[in-house]
Parts: sequence; structure tokens; C-alpha cells
Amino acid sequence: MSQPLAFTNATLITGDRDGTVLHDRTVIVGVDGRIATVGPAVETSVPDGARVVDARGRFVMPGLINAHAHLFSDGRPIPKILTSERAEKLVALFAHSPFGHRWLDGRTKRAILTQMNTGVTTIRSLGEPGYEVVRAAAAIERGDYLGPRLIPSGPLLAIPEGHGAPQIALICADADATRRNTRQNLDNGVRAMKISATGGVTDAKAIGHAGTPEMSETNMRIVCEEAHAAGILVAAHAQSEDGILAALRAGVDTIEHGAAMSEEVIALFKDNPNSLRGHSSLIPTLMACLPLVKLEPSVTGANEVSRANAVMVLDEMLAGIRVALEHDIELGMGTDSALTFVTHYNTWREIDFVIRYGGVPAARALHAATGANARILGIDGETGSIEPGKSADLLVTAANPLDDVRTLASPVAVVVRGELIDAPSVTTFPEIDALLDEF
Ligand SMILES: [Zn+2]
Repeated sequence: MSQPLAFTNATLITGDRDGTVLHDRTVIVGVDGRIATVGPAVETSVPDGARVVDARGRFVMPGLINAHAHLFSDGRPIPKILTSERAEKLVALFAHSPFGHRWLDGRTKRAILTQMNTGVTTIRSLGEPGYEVVRAAAAIERGDYLGPRLIPSGPLLAIPEGHGAPQIALICADADATRRNTRQNLDNGVRAMKISATGGVTDAKAIGHAGTPEMSETNMRIVCEEAHAAGILVAAHAQSEDGILAALRAGVDTIEHGAAMSEEVIALFKDNPNSLRGHSSLIPTLMACLPLVKLEPSVTGANEVSRANAVMVLDEMLAGIRVALEHDIELGMGTDSALTFVTHYNTWREIDFVIRYGGVPAARALHAATGANARILGIDGETGSIEPGKSADLLVTAANPLDDVRTLASPVAVVVRGELIDAPSVTTFPEIDALLDEF
């Protein structure tokens, strides 16, 4: 950036656990893209030549961090014609062709920019057809375009016929393949690793299959050893207590989706000797499940099996959130974007659902999406709060998001590493939003 940036007379939503709000503050952003000063407006002088944004009546909060995203699709339902087994194989083949690469790169970039323009300044991807997000992260780093901070994954790791296979997974039939695939992801520059520890709603073949344990604890341990040696956290898709237990024992750092938990599981979350940092965290993703439960199958295209699995998984996920709150397990936020009805501009809805359906206090939900996620992902030295020295990743809203989460849907401005995006806008799918507004 060429000149300092100053937000004057803002109300700061700090994003801390307690929901601390600071009135009449000035935030100065230096030309290095970092927050230089945060102080009472009356005491904070604006440097000469700064671009001043009068934020009186506005709310400034840390940019959102989406800890569970997929970026290969836009969240509109996949046409029925593409969901047969044969069509899925053809799509997978196409995705790995040179033309498919370019097509996916374009979709990925659009998804990333849509999230950014709705206030998401950091995205962790967790399962993609190939290395599109690694390439996008490199492009942003080179300065090809302004984008959020990306923590890219490649394909996730799954057993044959397991969750995500074959479209967005490398197939791990045995220990050797597991190690080889983990190293392939690392060699291709991923910064996040994901395992399918259990089956999932989207591709379960029978009722009750969604939470069935898939990858063995031994093989998950191999993934964790390899990833941790490279300083990379491991996430596990896990939708049952058994699956979570095996994943945590193996050393998984973040449990995605979650389920009800025993004392043993709770204790492992809090003290996990095989994890990278000695404890593990929970990232619920209600938005992936709620529409399948709340809307008619004729609308969602869900069959009887996926509807029943969605009901089961939603119950488990809500139970997981309750236990996490009760036992103070670190709670993050992810949207599972790219899944059916999970668009890239609706991150606010996940926060809203976590508050209304998960019973999470608004302050805690915003903290999960900012400071807590930063800590969980190991980037809290860099982002997740409004403090001097941190990257200027900010979201400016017209209303107080602690009272009105929907204000996050249309930010007044977004700041990404100090770069101001004034009046950001995105393309929405009104037919999807009308359905989601029903519940
Ligand atoms: Zn996912």
C-alpha cells in the first residue's frame, strides 16, 4: 500500500471471548499492511498523508477466518445428471486434465474472492480435487491479485470407497499408500492435511453409514507423523465418537464436524500427546447439514439415505458443540463451503446457525470465527485480533454483529493485509438464500 490508512471514531468489536466492545477508537494501518496503532480517538493522531475513513457509527472487527472450506464449487446443487457413479468418474478424469486444471483454477479464484468480499480474510481449504488452492496461494503471494491468506490443502486422504473418494481424495489402501499420499501432498506444497476418519453424509450408501470409522488409527498416525514433521496440522472429518477417538489418538489436531463425546474423548481433546501442539480443537460445520434436514428432499435433491444421515449427523454435531462449551474444548468455525447450499458468501450464516441452533453465545461464536480460529490454525501471532503488529485483516459493518449477525452479509468495507476494499460486492444466488432464510 502507498499510504497509511486510518479508521477514526470506530466502535471496535474485538472478537475476544467475552465480546468486548470498545467505543470511539482510531485504528491506524501502516504502509506495511500491519496495524500500527489502536487507541481512543481523542488521543490518537492520524499520520500525515493517511487515507482517513470516518468510521463513526460503524463497527470494525477482525476479518473472519474460515477453518473449513472447499473451493472447487460454488455451493449450487450439483445437477442430477452429474451424480451417477459413471458421471462422477468422468468428472474426476476431467478435473485432472490440463483443461480441467484451468477450469478449476478459475472456479477456485472466484470462490476465494467471494469469501474475501464478504469479510473472510483467511481461508483453510480442506479437500480439493488437486492442488488448485496451492496454485492460488502462490498467485496471491506473487501479487497477481489481492486475495485472502490461504492455508491450502490438496486432496484429502481416504480409504478406497471412503468419504470424498475419488473426486477430492487420494486413495490410501494400506500403510504404504497412506505415507506415499501424505508425502505427495507435502511435496506439492500443501499447508493443511485432511483425513476422512469416518463416512460422511454426501456419499454414505446406507442409513447410519455417515459416522462409520474409515481410516485405521494406525494409518492416521502415519499421516500425523509425516505432516507434523513438516509443521503442518492434520484435520479429520469425523462424525461419530468412535471416529473422533481414533483420530485423536492418532494425533489429529482438528476434528471437523464432531459428535457426542465420552470423558475419554474430552480428556484427549484437552491433552493430546500425539497432536502437534498438545491439544486438539473442534470445528463444527452446521451449514453443511441443516439444509438437508430442514428442507424438503424434493428441494434439496437428497435421497432417503442422505436425509436420514443428515438428521443423525446434525444431532451428533449439536451434541459435540454442547460438550465443547461445557468442557471448554477449543471451538472454531468452518463453513464446508462448496457443498450443496453452502455458498462462499454465506459465512455469516454458519455463525448465525451456531448461535441459534448450537446455543453458542454470540460473543463466543464471533470469537470462534476470529481469535479462536487464529489460535487453532497457529496464526494468532499474525491475525485474528485488532492489535498493533498484527496484519490489518479487518471487516467493517453497518450494525453491531454481536446483536445482528446478518450485518456480516454485506460489509461496508474489508481490509486484507492493509489493502482497503471499499463497498465490496458479490454475486449471490437468491433462490438459495430464500430457502436458507426459511429456517
Ligand atoms: Zn468438508
